[in-house]
Amino acid sequence: MKKDYSKTSLVHVSCVDLSYEGKGVCKNGKDVYFVPGMFPGEEGDIVFDYARNGSKFGKIAKLDKTSPGRIQPRCKICSSCGGCAFQQYDYSYQLAYKTKKVQEQFKKIAKMDVNPFPCLGMENPYFYRNKIQMPFGKDNRGNLYCGFYKEGTHVIVPVDTCYIEDERAKTILDAIKKLGKSFKIEPYKEDEGRGFLRHVLIRTSKHKEQVMVVLVTYKDVFPSRNNFVKALIKECPFITTVIQNVNSRHTNVILGEFERVLYGPGFIEDVLCGISFKISAKSFYQVNPIMTETLYQKAIEAAKLTKEDIVFDAYSGIGTIGMCAAKSCKQVISVEIVKEAVLDARKNAKFNQVDNISFYCDDASAFMVNMANKKQHVDVVFMDPPRKGSDQRFLDALCRLSPDRVVYVSCDPSTLARDVAYLNKKYRLESVQPVDMFPHTMHVETVASLELKQKAR
Ligand code: SAH
Repeated sequence: MKKDYSKTSLVHVSCVDLSYEGKGVCKNGKDVYFVPGMFPGEEGDIVFDYARNGSKFGKIAKLDKTSPGRIQPRCKICSSCGGCAFQQYDYSYQLAYKTKKVQEQFKKIAKMDVNPFPCLGMENPYFYRNKIQMPFGKDNRGNLYCGFYKEGTHVIVPVDTCYIEDERAKTILDAIKKLGKSFKIEPYKEDEGRGFLRHVLIRTSKHKEQVMVVLVTYKDVFPSRNNFVKALIKECPFITTVIQNVNSRHTNVILGEFERVLYGPGFIEDVLCGISFKISAKSFYQVNPIMTETLYQKAIEAAKLTKEDIVFDAYSGIGTIGMCAAKSCKQVISVEIVKEAVLDARKNAKFNQVDNISFYCDDASAFMVNMANKKQHVDVVFMDPPRKGSDQRFLDALCRLSPDRVVYVSCDPSTLARDVAYLNKKYRLESVQPVDMFPHTMHVETVASLELKQKAR
């Protein structure tokens, strides 16, 4: 008999696992539902929410049995916002889930049995994010609001206090909401392709008192620009730089090409592992400065560097990993595709007087193929690709280059497992260390260390 999954019908389920996306995997007989905020061991009634790609998703209606891991979240909207539904799950349970998730991806995708070290977590897993980006909307009383897009939609869930973001962000966003109303700033309306303010991006420095605000606008013309910036600085004197970024494209990408510095130097500085880094609006910079130091320590430890080593840092961003490694090796070669990040990296090396590192702006795969063709000698490769992982060209060239050690830093265990499986013909997986860069979310960062199976030299 065909079941009626209309909104009102309740389905009794038992949660047996957490999915890759951190949703409860819930069963009713043979039927499986993915339910956000439901945890293994829990039972209760859900309502059918929607179906996507053949999977059914539900919402909790009533819980009969709760997990010992369930706690009262600090954030009242963590379920509706969806950004960090894990706030309802005790932190030690979150860490255990992340360790298991990494292990499972290796099993499922790489067909490898690995035993990751337990996921390293934060002492105080709140207010850690140094990068905040929020779209803006306007209610029918003309008040501006900002928030996060509800998962899978472009509906803004208004957020007043976010418990994972640097606390300075709230003061700035509140000021922009207030000033936006008096300056008659119109939020950008995606569906109508009109309006002005698309997003506000805030970057804070953990170790220096510096804060960047990027106003992403649909149009270049910014009425009362100088007065708006003056008023913003008056409300938030701790802001050290303000940038206007113009994005007139109909796209999900937040930042556009053109930017104009409206106040301050156009960058902020932060310190990682004792080294200062200049960070501009478009450069990638890890979002959790505390755990980044842990991550880099683990990556550099895994590389077992010696003073004779030639190191290649691929997908280098503003050069952070390479610069941290430079003092323990002979030479570092770095490659990164975003030109602003490469310019930041060069300035950073100069400023910190690190002279055994060079930066190239190129596609990592093209650069790697070139190095392999030239039979360049490299002892250690650090690779830290974006979520989609590396491509076959990069991995084939890496095998030809044959460095003794490869340290793969990954923000997606599924592409990590895929790429490690590919490298497995030449490289033995030595260790896997998950690091919790993103507490209360289902994301996990991993350092995998690989060694060449047969050394030619
Ligand atoms: N290792 C750095 C950055 C990691 S994020 C850090 O720890 O901060 C991944 C980086 O890869 C980003 O800076 C992104 O701009 C860059 N990137 C993405 N695709 C690339 C490609 N095809 N070639 C080179 N770099 C790329």
